[in-house]
Amino acid sequence: MINFNEPPYIGKETKYIEEAVRSKKISGDGYYTKKCSSWLEKYTGTEKALLTTSCTHATEMAAILADIQSGDEVIMPSYTFVSTANAFILRGARVKFVDIRPDTMNIDENLIEGAISEHTKAIVPVHYAGVACEMDTICNLAKKYGLYVIEDAAQAVKSTYKGKPLGSIGDYGCYSFHETKNYSMGEGGALLVKHKKIAERAEIIREKGTDRSKFFRGQIDKYTWVDIGSSYLPSELNAAYLWAQLEVSDDICSNRMKSWNYYYQGLKELEERKFIELPVIPVDCTHNAHMFYIKTRDIEERKELIHYLRQRKINSVFHYIPLHTSPAGKKFGEFVGEDRYTTKESERLLRLPMYYGLEIDNIDYIIKTIEKFYLL
Ligand SMILES: *Cc1c(COP(=O)(O)O)cnc(C)c1O
Repeated sequence: MINFNEPPYIGKETKYIEEAVRSKKISGDGYYTKKCSSWLEKYTGTEKALLTTSCTHATEMAAILADIQSGDEVIMPSYTFVSTANAFILRGARVKFVDIRPDTMNIDENLIEGAISEHTKAIVPVHYAGVACEMDTICNLAKKYGLYVIEDAAQAVKSTYKGKPLGSIGDYGCYSFHETKNYSMGEGGALLVKHKKIAERAEIIREKGTDRSKFFRGQIDKYTWVDIGSSYLPSELNAAYLWAQLEVSDDICSNRMKSWNYYYQGLKELEERKFIELPVIPVDCTHNAHMFYIKTRDIEERKELIHYLRQRKINSVFHYIPLHTSPAGKKFGEFVGEDRYTTKESERLLRLPMYYGLEIDNIDYIIKTIEKFYLL
């Protein structure tokens, strides 16, 4: 069976974890946590990068930092993971879902303004498949209406928009290092904070609402409870796993890119003959080969293809069921305007196996099998 995903493993992870164990420092904010966060700060050019226990938690922290409260509204696509919405609903906000663009599956930047009301506090662009949303338009709207931009860049580590790393463009950026993402620590993530003034509060929220980080740096002589917060700091063991990957992030990225390009070249003919559609990468964007998907004619054809591939030992999967159609989505939010593409396009999208180390022979076999499905 060709798996849909395999967690990235370079080889040094176990050694680093062992070193963390031997150093007798396995809770958070030790050697490896610092290695990872400075790498992230340097790479993204943001004021502060804080490793977190997940992207979900990074987004929850961003919602606290943006002071989201009951009665506020937050704008996001419906085609996303539940955490994008939950983080804000936990603070009492309502979610306004906006339709996506059929080419990138990202929020349609031209529909956002129509969803802004006097209660709107933030826009949450989700960079689907590591391909950037139209950030200039989104940031201009945010400026015009005084809104926060919180990037769900869970899938977008090492992708760029006009040369800028995704996650570093809005006020806050949220990364995921879950085992299904390009770089992993099992469960984990990071919050990128753009503004210096906010960085200290972010640290406090991550440390259960205490100023413990300052205490450990020797800036104060005792620590105390100063704000709301929770336990969002991951252990050194997880950070050690991640560090082995960030160290060689270029290799991981180029390996994935090679697979992505191989798929693209191999499936182009089927696209030209109008059997399927392939992903679109806008000119201003570089992506990180997080995902390779195709689009079938409709949900029926997708179902048949998934079955056909599974019978031939290939695991392919569909993705998000639009949030506005789910029980919680209906309770906590509403779709603004017409659902022209969210449902229709999500029903056509099929994700093919993609992970670090996926063999070209396997990709070849997957391409040939898809050709057989359409041409035989
Ligand atoms: C993976 C993912 C998340 C959640 O990440 P966790 O680290 O598992 O919390 C959130 N949003 C998107 C778009 C994702 O792909």
